[in-house]
Amino acid sequence: MSGLQVKAQPFNYILYYSKRRSLAIQIKAGEVVVRAPLAYAMAKIEAFLQHKQHWILEKIQTTQLLAAPKWLEECRLPLFEQVLPFEVQRAKRSYILQQQDKLVLNISSRVQMARVDIIKQQLITDWYKQQAQIWFNSRVAYWQRQLQVKSTEIVIGGWLSKWGYCRADGRLGFNWRLMMAPAWVADYVVVHEVCHLKHLNHSAAFWQLVAKHCADVSAAKQWLKQYQHHLSL
Ligand SMILES: [Zn+2]
Repeated sequence: MSGLQVKAQPFNYILYYSKRRSLAIQIKAGEVVVRAPLAYAMAKIEAFLQHKQHWILEKIQTTQLLAAPKWLEECRLPLFEQVLPFEVQRAKRSYILQQQDKLVLNISSRVQMARVDIIKQQLITDWYKQQAQIWFNSRVAYWQRQLQVKSTEIVIGGWLSKWGYCRADGRLGFNWRLMMAPAWVADYVVVHEVCHLKHLNHSAAFWQLVAKHCADVSAAKQWLKQYQHHLSL
């Protein structure tokens, strides 16, 4: 079923007529969809939208903020607070070249067109993992000194269900996707996991220790909850 594109002030919307009994407004990723009963008068729809205008405009803004950026399509990659543009070019072999303020994705000329997107994603994921290994190694080293603890290994992964982990044998794991979040958010995860080297649980003593070393615990948790869908390619 295709909708009717309505250009209007102060917002455009898509109108669907169907066998229904009342008007409904839906706002997703900054886009307004209106569902109306068959043969419902346009003037009545407009009056309704005007009545709800304030709520709609507010909702457009918040859902736009929440819509995940399409990093690959837009040829840019977030690295903490920075956003790096990237270019794609054909080369003898596939690799990423990091220049001062941009990345160049070299894709081997042997890679078929249909597979370019897959290779692009692989190169970028590997690049993030390398950045993550360097950054998490150094942050863990810093927090270990502060807390007088010692991990045995630092593993970088791309899990969809966790930002980090701490095992009983002292192994720590961190999600490379955190490189797409602000650095203070990623650092909260480091403090969290390093504190587990002292308390391998989520007891009151554990949270006290985390709060002692990280001032923004609740803001960081909130950020991850709200923007986790921004942290993927
Ligand atoms: Zn934990």
